[in-house]
Amino acid sequence: MTRFVFITGGVVSSLGKGLASASLAALLQARGYNVRLRKLDPYINVDPGTMSPTQHGEVFVTDDGAETDLDLGHYERFTGVAARRTDNITTGRIYTDVIEKERRGDYLGATVQVIPHITDAIKEFILADVEEEDFVLCEIGGTVGDIESLPFLEAIRQLGNELGRERALYIHLTLVPYLKSAGELKTKPTQHSVTELQRVGIRPDIILCRSECALPPEERAKISQLCNVPADNVISAPDIETIYEVPICYHDQGMDRQLLRYFGLADDERKPNLKRWRRVVKRIRKPEREITIAVVGKYTSLIDSYKSLVEALSHGGIANNVRVRQKWIDAEIFESEDAVHQLDGAEGILVPGGFGERGAEGKIAAARFARERRVPYFGICFGMQMAVIEAARNLAGITSAGSTEFGDCPEPVVGLLTEWLHGGQVERRDHDTDLGGTMRLGAYECELRPKTRVRKIYRKKRISERHRHRYEVNIRYRKQLEKAGLCFSGMSPDGVLPEIIEFPEHPWYVGVQFHPELKSRPFEPHPLFASFIGAAIEQSHLV
Ligand code: GLN
Repeated sequence: MTRFVFITGGVVSSLGKGLASASLAALLQARGYNVRLRKLDPYINVDPGTMSPTQHGEVFVTDDGAETDLDLGHYERFTGVAARRTDNITTGRIYTDVIEKERRGDYLGATVQVIPHITDAIKEFILADVEEEDFVLCEIGGTVGDIESLPFLEAIRQLGNELGRERALYIHLTLVPYLKSAGELKTKPTQHSVTELQRVGIRPDIILCRSECALPPEERAKISQLCNVPADNVISAPDIETIYEVPICYHDQGMDRQLLRYFGLADDERKPNLKRWRRVVKRIRKPEREITIAVVGKYTSLIDSYKSLVEALSHGGIANNVRVRQKWIDAEIFESEDAVHQLDGAEGILVPGGFGERGAEGKIAAARFARERRVPYFGICFGMQMAVIEAARNLAGITSAGSTEFGDCPEPVVGLLTEWLHGGQVERRDHDTDLGGTMRLGAYECELRPKTRVRKIYRKKRISERHRHRYEVNIRYRKQLEKAGLCFSGMSPDGVLPEIIEFPEHPWYVGVQFHPELKSRPFEPHPLFASFIGAAIEQSHLV
């Protein structure tokens, strides 16, 4: 029997509902239960693929090629369960489906309305594609009280009634602010938020309180009394040093026990095994030393736009027992000649994914600096494309090398790919194709050439990694680039798409067309990140 846990948020946004959901799922998983996490987003975009990363944060790509909310990244990192297309829905997607059905005449003359048609579609999504799961945790995006989340709240209210008490539980995450002038934590916003939730017919079973410090017993008692929840079900979620400690923090307060008791599942049957969580936290807290990686990107104003990257770098640190200090530098700075000295002192340089011409020359300059100074370089997606342009211009003598992403170009070393193979099928695009959902998306296989650095790192002949890009390194330049010393160490199985490049003579210089950060986990740091950080440590011994 699958049980459903609905997580709503109140008072303010950005409380970390995604992390809270992922942490609870991790606890249930540590007790041996099968879990699945889902995100329901109330915005009108069909998916976050077309949203600016500086507004909405990273777009997380699943193996099956869906562009999803960044919370799905937390879900994967905390549970190791690969998210699917069916795990993220938006208002836009729901309406698109309902309107398509209406046009087909599927509603047989009915007036199509928010209730029941939209709410039914939301319920269908929540219940679909569930098999062996013991628990499905559904996070509702937005804040209670927002107009756009109403249909979602109505749908989960109805589901609670339909599934019955023994299969549905509601968790409400709120903020308990600390008022300096009064020297107190304030519970009033939580009370109001719960009232707001009750107005739409939902009574929370567990209240999770975000605050700067741990919730004292009096405040807990107050929330319990005024919000109609047993005191043991009021859980404190204080700010802590590392996100990987959150599951331990919840467990220490009995959150998983309370949830299982609610469902009538004996608590003592399966004790959670939190050893690996404790080990990771210890490594993060007490690293042997610190190294600095310069990340030369574009969306540096909102660190959430590179969420998985930030985590993957820290996983690379965990693998090597070091703390990775990330020095984020806006690529545009490098467009002036001498700014490159900003990179002095960095033990590794990483150029992450990105879109558009702004900052591109700065990234090319950073790639050149890394190559010439023999500093470990990791180019991801756009970072690989810029590294190839750099090599073409400065090593292969193709001085006007560029990418067609920036307009017409005499030497398109990186160009728009109009046709490729995916799972035996040909996919086609051109310049006029819609922007949403049309990139090369999701998991693709890649063959690693023997005796290369990446082959040693992965210890495999064939790998599978996730993609999200429109442009590709142009295979027509391969010979020229190889002559100049660049090795094409990973190729698509049909030999058409360059997936990985490296400089064999350099201490560590790797560019990948995919996004390895999407598959890195605290317990299984991605091999490329672990190796890159290892190389940066080596480098630091040299200076
Ligand atoms: N803008 C590049 C492309 O579309 C790279 C995208 C990325 O870095 N994810 O190919």
